[in-house]
Amino acid sequence: MSEFIAIDGPAGSGKSSVSKAVARSRRYGYLDTGAAYRALAWHVLDRGAETDDADAVVAAASDFDLRLGLDPDDRTVAIGDSDITAAIREPRVSEAVSGVARVPAVREQVNIYFRSLVAAASYPAVIVEGRDITTVVAPDAPVRILLTAAPEVRAARRAGELAGENAAVVAEALHKRDASDSAVVDFLNAAEGVEVVDSTHLDFPQTIDAVLAVIERKQGAEHGR
Ligand code: C5P
Repeated sequence: MSEFIAIDGPAGSGKSSVSKAVARSRRYGYLDTGAAYRALAWHVLDRGAETDDADAVVAAASDFDLRLGLDPDDRTVAIGDSDITAAIREPRVSEAVSGVARVPAVREQVNIYFRSLVAAASYPAVIVEGRDITTVVAPDAPVRILLTAAPEVRAARRAGELAGENAAVVAEALHKRDASDSAVVDFLNAAEGVEVVDSTHLDFPQTIDAVLAVIERKQGAEHGR
């Protein structure tokens, strides 16, 4: 049974790359919960359906053999034997994913899956990263962090990741996704007991250090050190 380390935050806050780097440095597992929502969105599209059709989404979720590992150095995502690691990052999936994330029955199903993955893990702890991890998936986790950054900084980082994409188009898509996601989960404000790390003025190594400092402090308090 691994300890949960919960990290929430909006798109472009750096939570995926920071969570991965923190997991590597502490030899912890890493769970990218967004990958599960993306995989389901890909699966709905692959079946020829639309993700704004909640019934089609629920039907696809009942036939969804997701394979998602916890190794921060192996980010393979598969459905059955089909490797969809690259496909789930395509813009058509990013555009469709909020439709999937909006369906309550789907959220319950993936949350059970996430908790069972962490429960069965052999790592001392798993960094679980998403939008509702500190509030819904693991509200009792000993370490809960909200990683934020100013909207214009987040858009610029996302544009930098997606080579060739126009920065204005990326900013527009990101704001759209934030708006529809925040109707479902409030990931822009910290719940009680959640530590905020604001990376607006921090570079990547500084953000990793800030997150590690919170983890060490919280674990120290938890274990009475
Ligand atoms: O983190 P990422 O951008 O890969 O997440 C993709 C989408 O999955 C989000 O835009 C959101 O709609 C959904 N999501 C969610 N809850 C999570 C993780 C992701 O609703 N814990």
